Amino acid sequence: MYSLFIRLEQFWQGLWTLSSLWQHKGMAKRKPSESANLLIPLHPTIPALQKAAKDCQACDLWKRGTQTVFGEGEAGAKVIFVGEQPGDREDLEGKPFVGPAGGLLDKALVEAGIDRKKVYVTNAVKHFKWEPRGKRRIHKKPDAAEIAACRPWLDAEIAALRPKVVVCLGATAGQALLGRGFRVTQHRGEFVESPLAPFVMATVHPSSILRAPDDETRHLEMRRFVADLKKLAGVLS
Ligand code: SF4
Repeated sequence: MYSLFIRLEQFWQGLWTLSSLWQHKGMAKRKPSESANLLIPLHPTIPALQKAAKDCQACDLWKRGTQTVFGEGEAGAKVIFVGEQPGDREDLEGKPFVGPAGGLLDKALVEAGIDRKKVYVTNAVKHFKWEPRGKRRIHKKPDAAEIAACRPWLDAEIAALRPKVVVCLGATAGQALLGRGFRVTQHRGEFVESPLAPFVMATVHPSSILRAPDDETRHLEMRRFVADLKKLAGVLS
């Protein structure tokens, strides 16, 4: 009877070990981007995507950010602006481009004559990546794995809206959507060929204008940014 008990125990231990190994192997093989793909709803409208993305844990950034900050804009938006990731204020409010960089983008849109109702704003990565410095939360650039993990959400937003224009704001968005070899510094303000939309362009992120070392540079950079956006106004009308 005792030996039967020992054999049964060995049998269950074997099963448990096999199951652990299988789970471990499955996790090691699982790509983060596949995890986000699994959350995309069957009918991926923007409201359905916003809701589904709230529960995303496809990379570790969900542990650091307060909440998922999904894209926002009118249902019939013709242009998507893609930034890098939400900032401190966006993270707390749960809305993209509501901080100082968003304010500057709004101002530039007005100056370029682009109707805000035609615009949808989002980010390549939907959680705020930061590191502590004293009491402050300092922005940290997302890495390639985090950008890849979040890509299904961005692809789904573009597929749902089918915009006429996609604008990458800054190097992270440019490289996320146009390839790692893409350089905003070399191609800013140019329309580039891409399957994403009929018109695709990259320019600087508005936060880089805010970081300009002095007023004169900031003013000059703002003028260049507005000049890039005016090219969009031409194709949107
Ligand atoms: S950053 Fe993107 S992929 Fe990572 S947990 Fe957040 S929503 Fe998911």
